Amino acid sequence: MYVNTVGPEAPRVVDVVVIGAGAAGIGAARRLANSRLSVLVLEARDRPGGRAHTLTGRSGAAIDLGCGWLHSADRNPWAAIAEATGFIVDKGEAPWMRPRIDVNFPISDQRAYHKAFAVFEAKLRAAASEPDRPAAELFDEDTARWRPMLDAFSGYYNGAPFADISVHDYAAYQPTDENWRVVQGYGALIRSQAEAMPILYESPVLSIDHGGAMMRLTTPSTTIEARVVILAVPAAVLAHEDIRFEPPLPDKTAAAQALPLGHVDKVFLKLARPEAFEPDTLAVGRTDTTDAGAYTFRPLGHALVEGFFGGALAEGLEREPAGAFTAFAIDELTALFGSAFRRELAPLAESDWGIDPFTRGAYSHARPGMAHMREALRRPVRERLFFAGEACSPHAFSTAHGAYETGVAAAEAVLAELAPEEVERQRDEEEDERMRNGR
Ligand SMILES: Cc1cc2nc3c(=O)[nH]c(=O)nc-3n(C[C@H](O)[C@H](O)[C@H](O)COP(=O)(O)OP(=O)(O)OC[C@H]3O[C@@H](n4cnc5c(N)ncnc54)[C@H](O)[C@@H]3O)c2cc1C
Repeated sequence: MYVNTVGPEAPRVVDVVVIGAGAAGIGAARRLANSRLSVLVLEARDRPGGRAHTLTGRSGAAIDLGCGWLHSADRNPWAAIAEATGFIVDKGEAPWMRPRIDVNFPISDQRAYHKAFAVFEAKLRAAASEPDRPAAELFDEDTARWRPMLDAFSGYYNGAPFADISVHDYAAYQPTDENWRVVQGYGALIRSQAEAMPILYESPVLSIDHGGAMMRLTTPSTTIEARVVILAVPAAVLAHEDIRFEPPLPDKTAAAQALPLGHVDKVFLKLARPEAFEPDTLAVGRTDTTDAGAYTFRPLGHALVEGFFGGALAEGLEREPAGAFTAFAIDELTALFGSAFRRELAPLAESDWGIDPFTRGAYSHARPGMAHMREALRRPVRERLFFAGEACSPHAFSTAHGAYETGVAAAEAVLAELAPEEVERQRDEEEDERMRNGR
């Protein structure tokens, strides 16, 4: 449990309340940190990070139950923060860029699958200039053989099958080819940025009254007044109306419901004989069904297997008692590598993001026809209620850096509203800096 950074005597009236201490909320609070505005972060859990959550086991390996990869690392602000704050960034090749373990997936089939995937993705991107439709409508006879694996990919990547995915939204995501890792854990990195922040933990916001001159927020133990609020909670929390707005905001609920969080989970197993596998190699549980796990052996060289589950498979296992992901993974790996392999695997950890009441899923996708709802979700209400979080990101949704950028953008909009002179001063300083550097 984290000690409440702001102490028991938290301020009851502030300029800005940030709701949620995930990547987006931390991004917002970080951006506001050196301004003259008073800021308070209200976080439902007893820890920061939200979907960024690192466990450190006795082996010393960082276990990221949520985000693990610095996607688009060459322009990812978390990569820059990691390097500036002494975290070690591993820039090695991602396992999915290499051939899979061929025990159940011959190399010739892997080539055929990658070709089918490239054809399908090119069609998806080309179809983005046409009216929106479900991505699955682009399957054809060229891709038919690989449909189970393509939908398994969609489960990992989008949290749902291609039938539920908007073509426009899929094409709007713009990654680069650089994918790096934080050796101490992505969650640990994000948590490190929360350490000095004014955060009140175990304070789930239940309602926001935004009708008066000041906003009034209630938690189970207190009421806080703020001039503006940055709401940085998962879209699914808004979709389920876990926070009551007074007056109601039906457009925000509708936008959040159009951007559901799919289902993605991870399992970590200890590997007794790691030397039997190359570091950072990937195996697929099965190739004939969508309901299969993907397994990275020896991530960053550790004696572990990291399993990844998406879509309906993850959703189903989330509903089962704890341990269901672990049991599924051990059965699937035993089917792949022989019955003796069971004895070489030991449970370490698993996630359950879909049944977590403060997340209610993994990451967002737009339903077909609903890609424009990211903008609708992001739009502030009367320049007093600002929205941030991965689902609000136009081109980097479903990622921790996309979330961070929306938090920073919301904070900048708040500064422009409440402290325009600071924005002006900062612009002048940046201009001076550019002149000094001769740019
Ligand atoms: C299994 C998995 C793997 C992933 N892998 C990657 C990856 O490799 N790379 C990547 O970039 N991204 C990845 N992601 C996505 C990434 O973790 C998220 O996009 C990002 O962390 C979301 O940040 P956020 O701030 O928008 O939301 P969150 O991190 O969910 O933060 C929201 C915060 O709001 C709090 N909250 C909720 N309700 C309330 C309330 N009523 N009052 C107060 N606080 C509240 C929550 O407790 C939480 O702390 C992964 C996610 C999952 C689940």
